[in-house]
Amino acid sequence: MDDRTKTRRLEEFRQLCRARGIPMTSQRRAVLEVVLDLDCHPNAEQVYASPKVRRARISRATVYRTLESLVRLGLVSKACHPGSAVRYDGRTDLHHHLICLRCEAVLDFDDERLDALPIPDTSALGFEVSDFRVQLRGVCRRCRELEERR
Ligand SMILES: [Zn+2]
Ligand SMILES: [Zn+2]
Repeated sequence: MDDRTKTRRLEEFRQLCRARGIPMTSQRRAVLEVVLDLDCHPNAEQVYASPKVRRARISRATVYRTLESLVRLGLVSKACHPGSAVRYDGRTDLHHHLICLRCEAVLDFDDERLDALPIPDTSALGFEVSDFRVQLRGVCRRCRELEERR
């Protein structure tokens, strides 16, 4: 994420905390900053292992709890993933993902035609759709290059 976008997102965070009367603790801010900095859709362990979170001496349990509260506040979203751990996404706007089935990399992918996909009626199943993401699954460039070298 570029610096301008990051500054804007942190400002949004500050305003949201003020509007809802939630203390903007340095811990919450550090966790959000790490998710925005790591463009890899990190899981909680990767956030916990980041130098910024280590320096701030934030416990693992706090990292997990803080990530979930950022999701509830709408500041971070959850990306679906082929692995077992929840992956967090600093982007909350409509976008799609390229998912590598080898290394589990999750790359952002913007495409206007995918954004415009008609959402089918799922009411017969009692399911209410809130939003959608298209996952294109395959093998990323890095894994393909590694394979070619073998
Ligand atoms: Zn890969
Ligand atoms: Zn994403």
